[in-house]
Amino acid sequence: MTQSALSARLLRIKPSPSMAAKALVDKLRAEGRNIVDFTLGEPDLPTPPHIIEAAIAAMRRGETRYTGAAGTPALRRAIAAKLARDNHLDYRPEEIVVGCGGKHIIYHALAATLGAGDEVIVPKPYWVSYPDISLLTDATPIEVNADSANGLKLTADALEAAITPRTKWVILNTPNNPSGAVYSRGELLALAAVLRRHEHVMLLSDEIYEHFVYDGGRHVSPAEVAPELRDRILVVNGASKGYCMTGWRLGYGAGPKFLVDAISKLVSQTTTCPNAIAQAAAIEAFAGDQAPVHAMVAIFKERRDRIVAGLNRAEGLACPAPCGAFYVFPSVAGLIGRRAPDGTLLDTDTEVANYFLREVGVATVDGASYGMSPYLRLSFATSLNAIDEGCALIAEACSKLCPSR
Ligand code: PMP
Ligand code: GLU
Repeated sequence: MTQSALSARLLRIKPSPSMAAKALVDKLRAEGRNIVDFTLGEPDLPTPPHIIEAAIAAMRRGETRYTGAAGTPALRRAIAAKLARDNHLDYRPEEIVVGCGGKHIIYHALAATLGAGDEVIVPKPYWVSYPDISLLTDATPIEVNADSANGLKLTADALEAAITPRTKWVILNTPNNPSGAVYSRGELLALAAVLRRHEHVMLLSDEIYEHFVYDGGRHVSPAEVAPELRDRILVVNGASKGYCMTGWRLGYGAGPKFLVDAISKLVSQTTTCPNAIAQAAAIEAFAGDQAPVHAMVAIFKERRDRIVAGLNRAEGLACPAPCGAFYVFPSVAGLIGRRAPDGTLLDTDTEVANYFLREVGVATVDGASYGMSPYLRLSFATSLNAIDEGCALIAEACSKLCPSR
């Protein structure tokens, strides 16, 4: 028994493209190839020492057992305090559920609420997992074009036009992966005005990149600007990005109690609870010294400027500076239709990504994986040296292309 053993639901989805791209990098490196890796979105800096110490202390205290499905009361209190401090949001600990990463919370929230016939509005470009997680629940992702004249952000008109009686969720991600777009208070107010008119629609607000905003901008939570929608908003966030804790697997959701209880019920039947040691460490992350977060954002700003300048030196690439997150999303329209030295036609962004990997050993992710072509996504959560080397290699690869006919 092979493929026939798999469910229709499973066969509908693909592996996470960013995870798959990183797995390919690991394989090529194991074979001895030198690869400059811009694939996976995870800070390369170590978890700050005070967070690691908190984990060690928790283990020494014996906090090594199952916790409640929704997380420890102490962590849920710390998250409530963090939401008040950073986001001006007023959630009680009972309105917060902790999971094994933000992705885990998103999966459980959608699985707890969606079924066949339901629709999920997913603005394009989107983070790779939103459509596939929706498909896993038998719901239908409805991809809606973000406005290229408006920095790849969803407009109120586009949202209004996409809502049907079957719409259950809208997923908004600010700061955005992959575009780096950061929604302003005014833009969020306009979207909230649409949602106010459609009482059956819930908003999943993915704020995992909240700390990564550049040039004096500030992350604003939709839940802050639209308190009247509080009972229909699930705020998703976590420790992965801001605190360099991707491998600890710690995320959370804050929302109406019926939804938090539903997610907790599902968690009690799947992962039981989040990792107890990661929870203890996360209390220190959210409540402790925030200086490492600010120091990291300053480092990332320099990396952003360096990669934007480097990529714009490559013939055929056009790379705007992202306002937030840690990805650039350059257009490769100038390379489409050109031929590689081996004769391969670069007719899609997937071919461009393959060409960069094959020709000069630079790994990126194709825009098609984010629902938008012809673009590439590059994570700049990597060293300045890697950025300099990778950009020089990309420029070299572009200069080797035969002119379009
Ligand atoms: N949302 C977005 C937009 C992401 O890019 C990621 C990256 N992994 C996540 C959620 C989930 O992160 P994690 O599960 O590590 O909390
Ligand atoms: N969110 C990260 C990324 O977009 C990690 C990989 C993933 O979760 O798919 O690269």
